[in-house]
Amino acid sequence: MQVPFLDLKSQYHQIKPEIDQAISEVIESARFVGGERVERFEQVFARFCGSSYALGMNSGTAALQLALLALGLKPGQEVILPANTFMATAEAVTHAGGNIALVDADPKTYTMDVSRIEEAINKNTWGIMPVHLYGHPADMDPILKIARKHGIRVVEDCAQSHGARYKGRRVGQFGDAAGFSFYPGKNLGAYGDGGLVTTDDQEALGQMKLLFNHGRNEKGEHEIEGFNERLDTLQAAILEVKLRHLDDWNAARRAHADHYRERLSGAHLVLPQVDDDVEHVYHLFVVRLENRDEVVARLKEKGIGVGIHYDRAVHTHKAYEYLGVSEGTHPVSEACAREVVSLPMYAELGDKQVDAVCDALIEVLG
Ligand SMILES: *Cc1c(COP(=O)(O)O)cnc(C)c1O
Repeated sequence: MQVPFLDLKSQYHQIKPEIDQAISEVIESARFVGGERVERFEQVFARFCGSSYALGMNSGTAALQLALLALGLKPGQEVILPANTFMATAEAVTHAGGNIALVDADPKTYTMDVSRIEEAINKNTWGIMPVHLYGHPADMDPILKIARKHGIRVVEDCAQSHGARYKGRRVGQFGDAAGFSFYPGKNLGAYGDGGLVTTDDQEALGQMKLLFNHGRNEKGEHEIEGFNERLDTLQAAILEVKLRHLDDWNAARRAHADHYRERLSGAHLVLPQVDDDVEHVYHLFVVRLENRDEVVARLKEKGIGVGIHYDRAVHTHKAYEYLGVSEGTHPVSEACAREVVSLPMYAELGDKQVDAVCDALIEVLG
């Protein structure tokens, strides 16, 4: 049995009438950028996250970058982020003029190791950007405590964690702001690129509204030099439909995760561990194993789609050679880069498909 890594077509077919109607309404209205539908989606998404405000953007990277700028990050100031994350977390900081300071991953959850944050703080530190990686919330209480103690900011990277809960509360409401991505493969995905910022900070919201629209205010004057980073109306309409299904889809992901755990408990690999008091949304189901590349090649031969998230820690990318951070500095992140494999994970996955992935994996592992 072939099992694709991701199957966006089957999700579309399940909600086709709702999506098609939303799309045709936008096209009929001929309002393609901004407007009521974008505002409506922003309101429901803010409410979903327990935040006061939300502002749609055209990507998760733009959302993080503009949140940093709106909150006042200045050139040369440092933002602390995990070495184990997608490139975009770091790019958002450097595109906003900041410098990045990396901390290693927690060996249990692979999110930022909170015990390493304080040693990374210096007089240039502006803030911390935790990533709720793979859908597992970062340990926010100690992060917020450190931030308060040092008078620095917190911006959450929620690109992989729509709907995840930390101590009963959804992510996206803990920091000064949070950036979400609606890249098609994310738990809440658009039909193209998209992103959004949540915040309770009205002033930062006002600044983002200038920044994302060429610096233009409500009178149409260009107050500052800005960007073009708005969310398309078509994407907002699609996302509003899909948000209604998100909790069910995340619950289905958790059920698949339980199924994987049950089938793979005796296998020679490390299963994902979950902190107490969090609700994981399994953007990715990541296992660690020896001889990763060989296992991946054999799974692919058997028609099992897998991914690697990520095959490099931030400081070992060519793009960040200039940081001068040598290999060996963040050993947990570097070990993850060698050993992680993401198994197929999406709501529409069938039990038979999960079994097929597990049969193939157990056979390959011997
Ligand atoms: C996807 C992702 C982003 C960036 O989002 P885009 O919408 O692709 O720009 C940022 N951080 C993490 C952790 C991501 O997974």
